[in-house]
Amino acid sequence: MEKVVIIGSGCAGLTAALYAARANLKPLVVTGRQPGGLLTTTSVVENFPGFPEGVDGYELMVRMQKQAERFGARVQFGVVESVDLSKQPFRLSVDGETVETETLIIASGAGHKHLELDSELKLENKGVTYCATCDGALPMFRSQPLVVVGGGDSACEEAMYLTRFGSVVYLVHRRDSLRASKIMVERTLAHTKIHPVWDSVVTEVLDVAKGKVTGVKVKNLKTGAEKVIECAGVFVAIGHRPNTALFKGVIDMDDHGYIVPRKGAATNVPGVFVAGDCSDRVYRQAVTAAGLGCAAAIEAERFLAARNE
Ligand SMILES: Cc1cc2nc3c(=O)[nH]c(=O)nc-3n(C[C@H](O)[C@H](O)[C@H](O)COP(=O)(O)OP(=O)(O)OC[C@H]3O[C@@H](n4cnc5c(N)ncnc54)[C@H](O)[C@@H]3O)c2cc1C
Repeated sequence: MEKVVIIGSGCAGLTAALYAARANLKPLVVTGRQPGGLLTTTSVVENFPGFPEGVDGYELMVRMQKQAERFGARVQFGVVESVDLSKQPFRLSVDGETVETETLIIASGAGHKHLELDSELKLENKGVTYCATCDGALPMFRSQPLVVVGGGDSACEEAMYLTRFGSVVYLVHRRDSLRASKIMVERTLAHTKIHPVWDSVVTEVLDVAKGKVTGVKVKNLKTGAEKVIECAGVFVAIGHRPNTALFKGVIDMDDHGYIVPRKGAATNVPGVFVAGDCSDRVYRQAVTAAGLGCAAAIEAERFLAARNE
């Protein structure tokens, strides 16, 4: 019987593991298909405190894991396939094996939606990115034309943020008006550096042969006309998908599948806590995920202490 099982080995899961391990709870971390989480897919992280020169995303996650293991956390490669949270102890199926636990921390993250273009995939991290806050300030984007794809609040926020770095920001949207909140739409469209490209979709990111982004091909859905927009970066902001399908109908979520905590990191099921991007549709940063992981572990520790009093 485990005291604490953590689903996910990203910043949230490994920080929860560090705190739970230091509280002598010997947590078990189940990594999922992406050990180290999303940050392992990026080369340079410049905004995680403590690394003035920046740090390689993969290296940062290896260090987080080592730090948690140093205090007794166990990290197991595996995928949680199903959960039974209807009674104590909770039962998880991990690659066909049953694991029982007194508390559970869900830190399963959120994936971004893709344009589903082959060229997009090939140029990821070579000018194609999914996070302006993370990558917008990189030298490769400074004083260059940039493209944001999307029309919701996130796309508008990304476009506004990128005006600090890019020479011009093209906002490519499949409709002729933005889906964002009224105030956001007004601000975005009033910005002199932002140029909307209405009724249009990106059909190809250029230039795979050169191994870097040099532009995008866009198609106007009303006229069928195609054109190339030259740019150094493509910021895809068409939404995220939290990895929470396992908990549907059991753990409270919003309409988009983000887990909604009751109080702090606690969910509607006593003994189940949540941390990181799977419950955060606003900030989605490594440091916020880590902070939420810390909170979830402290809550789990208090829950166990109160039970054993
Ligand atoms: C390309 C890129 C660059 C980024 N750059 C930065 C940056 O510079 N600075 C910054 O602050 N943020 C950056 N981010 C955002 C940052 O990566 C995330 O905010 C952070 O990783 C969220 O941590 P998390 O632990 O909540 O989730 P994740 O890192 O997504 O981890 C989720 C974990 O859950 C696991 N999992 C999912 N389902 C299951 C399951 N069924 N069973 C077991 N495990 C499961 C996965 O395998 C994974 O280990 C970037 C993101 C991307 C994609």
